[in-house]
Amino acid sequence: MKFSNFHQHTIFSDGKNTAEQIVQSAIGRGMEAIGFSDHSYTSIDESYCMMPDQYEAYFAECARLKEAYRDQIQIYTGLEMDYYSDIDRSKFDYIIGSVHYMYVNGICYPIDHSAAQQKEYIQNECGGDYLLFAKRYYDSLIKHMEKNRPDIVGHFDVLTKYGLVDEENETYQAIARDAIDRILPYVKIFELNTGAIARKCKTVPYPHPNLLCHILEGGGEFILGADSHASDTVDFYFNEATEILRQHGADHIVTFDIGQFRRIDI
Ligand SMILES: [Zn+2]
Ligand SMILES: [Zn+2]
Repeated sequence: MKFSNFHQHTIFSDGKNTAEQIVQSAIGRGMEAIGFSDHSYTSIDESYCMMPDQYEAYFAECARLKEAYRDQIQIYTGLEMDYYSDIDRSKFDYIIGSVHYMYVNGICYPIDHSAAQQKEYIQNECGGDYLLFAKRYYDSLIKHMEKNRPDIVGHFDVLTKYGLVDEENETYQAIARDAIDRILPYVKIFELNTGAIARKCKTVPYPHPNLLCHILEGGGEFILGADSHASDTVDFYFNEATEILRQHGADHIVTFDIGQFRRIDI
């Protein structure tokens, strides 16, 4: 099976490699398609995202690469849209919707940049209660999906990245399952996101296997996403991720193919 990755960052945001280096790596690995998904502009934190005046260069470079490599690989211009972004989506092939921040009274707490920052939010704003954090994170994600209707739910349970949330806790799981139920009417495609495995924070992809099952039971589907920030992780852990889906009863994954989402049997 030829893999495709639709969650790929470049030097246009916080990735390490150019878009062209990534395309060449993906071709070398025999991939079907690569979709760029650099970070949307967020005024609350300009440190990692594309600036508004970079979008045109991003579109131009993606268009140039689509043309230059058209006989070797499909290339798409996506975007990882944060909850705190406002964008004109008409020029993007697809949108991944993600929550990266908790924002309280003008203070911005990144939740997936470092354990220390996430901990600071839980201590300062939730009185140390990680369940309150989970409730607020999922509330933001639900609102993002409801308001912006992205094509794909990005790293559904990224709040578990640093092990500060007990994923086995029953109350936590109920909060997360409720979020799935409330998101599915708006967005059906979730990422099976392997990015935190590459960064050695997790040993399984997002979402947690129990939540993955709940998504499948509710009629949701999965697309593979490496959430890669370099050219050597463009298809990281994709064989294993596909096997995980199979083991939990999935019979297909979703891919973006000639501009349309379609299913492939696994
Ligand atoms: Zn993200
Ligand atoms: Zn990402």
